[in-house]
Amino acid sequence: MITFVKSGTTLEHLPKGNHPQIAFIGRSNVGKSSLINHLAGQKQLAHSSSEPGRTRTINIFDVDKRYFLVDLPGYGYAKGRKATGYIFDDMIGGYLEGSKNLKLVFVIIDARLGPTELDQQMLTFLQQQRLPFAIIANKVDKLTNSEKIALKRQLETGYDGLPVIMHSSTKTMGKGDVLDTIDKYLLRDH
Ligand code: GDP
Repeated sequence: MITFVKSGTTLEHLPKGNHPQIAFIGRSNVGKSSLINHLAGQKQLAHSSSEPGRTRTINIFDVDKRYFLVDLPGYGYAKGRKATGYIFDDMIGGYLEGSKNLKLVFVIIDARLGPTELDQQMLTFLQQQRLPFAIIANKVDKLTNSEKIALKRQLETGYDGLPVIMHSSTKTMGKGDVLDTIDKYLLRDH
């Protein structure tokens, strides 16, 4: 069972203690809320960043009392800011640098675009922070089979040894792979 716990904008607002955390991050509109709802088997648990008036927060969900699922704000969102030089804000950076219990960060990319420059900056940042991460190529329902194979190969060779999961919320693909990867990383000490 996945239940909402809390929202906040800094680490201080978030639950204390040693509970393991699994984070999800991606460019705004990449389909992160749909993916979290897909994992939860609930339609309205996570809210889309494209909903008007929605404030940007870090949202924490409890999964079976085993771990916290951390829904980080979409990056590349701030209107009026130039894409160049804008990586992600202090809320995201502060969380990723400061969280002690982070077992895995899923970076969600749009399968049709491949990793954008912002995605690559995020992946480099995670590498520099020595945080464990995996890539979810999302919306793969939009790709042909041969495109899927090519993208998976490109990502696996580009990011040596990294788990790459092909996922679609609309065609319900890849949910088992995401959950299996979470189980694997929950057991790891890093
Ligand atoms: P968020 O801003 O990252 O939380 O993205 P949303 O979950 O709100 O989705 C953004 C848009 O992408 C919406 O129009 C969704 O209907 C669409 N979308 C989400 N997941 C998928 C998917 O797996 N396949 C396709 N084709 N579209 C999707």
